[in-house]
Amino acid sequence: MLALSELVERHAAVRERMRAAAVRAGRDPSGVTLVAVTKTWPAELVALAYETGMRHFGENRPEELAEKRPAVETLLGPVQDITWHMIGTVQSRKTALVAEHADVFHALDRMRIASRLASQLAAGRMLLPVFLEVNVSGETSKAGIDCTAWEHDATQRAELRSMFIESGALSGLRPCGLMTMAPWDAPQVEIREVFRRTRALANWLRAQLPGQSELDLSMGMTDDFELAIEEGATHVRVGRALFGERL
Ligand SMILES: *Cc1c(COP(=O)(O)O)cnc(C)c1O
Repeated sequence: MLALSELVERHAAVRERMRAAAVRAGRDPSGVTLVAVTKTWPAELVALAYETGMRHFGENRPEELAEKRPAVETLLGPVQDITWHMIGTVQSRKTALVAEHADVFHALDRMRIASRLASQLAAGRMLLPVFLEVNVSGETSKAGIDCTAWEHDATQRAELRSMFIESGALSGLRPCGLMTMAPWDAPQVEIREVFRRTRALANWLRAQLPGQSELDLSMGMTDDFELAIEEGATHVRVGRALFGERL
């Protein structure tokens, strides 16, 4: 496992790259949340990451989140300031784990998942912020709501808008923005275009919703988080740049 001193350096380096990207775009660096993606890494590494000042952690499998969160709480004692993000697409039979263990959900892609989550969230808990996952490129996996031609396709826009409104009408859920994944191995210009179009879609959506505050944008990973910040990301999900290659 990484030594604390090395993790301190890597964390500082990622923060500095995030800051520089925000400044290049004329944005306030404090408007971008670093979600440290700890999938495949043990609870001990999360505890070490906490020591370096990381407070937001992301997992992409519900079972792993359900195991790791209590394990980290055992290691760190009663800390209250960690936010756990479920960043991966969830199958309907796994929604109960997300309802129980996630503080934020980044990959809502269909109403069936929203309804199940709403019925499984504990009564009286805080609203669960949810990002709607959109697919604007068509090149990545099929994950996400089809928004590949949203600029020209009124049906795609209407479907996204209804899902946002309908999930927000369910008790316990608070739709807060859009999440996207850039295509693998695409040239930078194409990746930037995916982020730019996702932000434009969020702007369109917000204009459709009276009284809606600014929408959040979860986009950018190790290979493209600076581009994403330049194009408006409020949440970047970074694993390898912090913790190294997954085994
Ligand atoms: C693994 C993962 C990430 C982080 O990827 P890195 O390349 O390690 O930064 C981000 N988002 C999702 C949805 C992931 O599954």
